[in-house]
Amino acid sequence: MTDETKKTRNFDFPICPYCGSTERLAGTTLAKQIEKGVMPKESTAYLFTHQSIIAKDMKWLSAPVIISFYDVCEKCGATWCIHAEIHTAVQGMDTKPKYGKN
Ligand SMILES: [Zn+2]
Repeated sequence: MTDETKKTRNFDFPICPYCGSTERLAGTTLAKQIEKGVMPKESTAYLFTHQSIIAKDMKWLSAPVIISFYDVCEKCGATWCIHAEIHTAVQGMDTKPKYGKN
């Protein structure tokens, strides 16, 4: 796709911002599975993800969407964002319920 507005930007945060460790629960669990050969080498793992649309209201036609992925540090227990992606969401009509209105 040649449209620059559809381009995805990726951000990686491999180090725990609290203690400096790179060992995280889902990451090391996945690494052990890859070592056993039961998961593909290109697999990724995280504990949960969150999606946010950056728009003033729901009447946008195109708006940035940030998807962030989180894991927990094995050394200090902190939760941190290990990866984030910025996409562009297109469409975004007024999605408020119109029940009872004609
Ligand atoms: Zn830590």
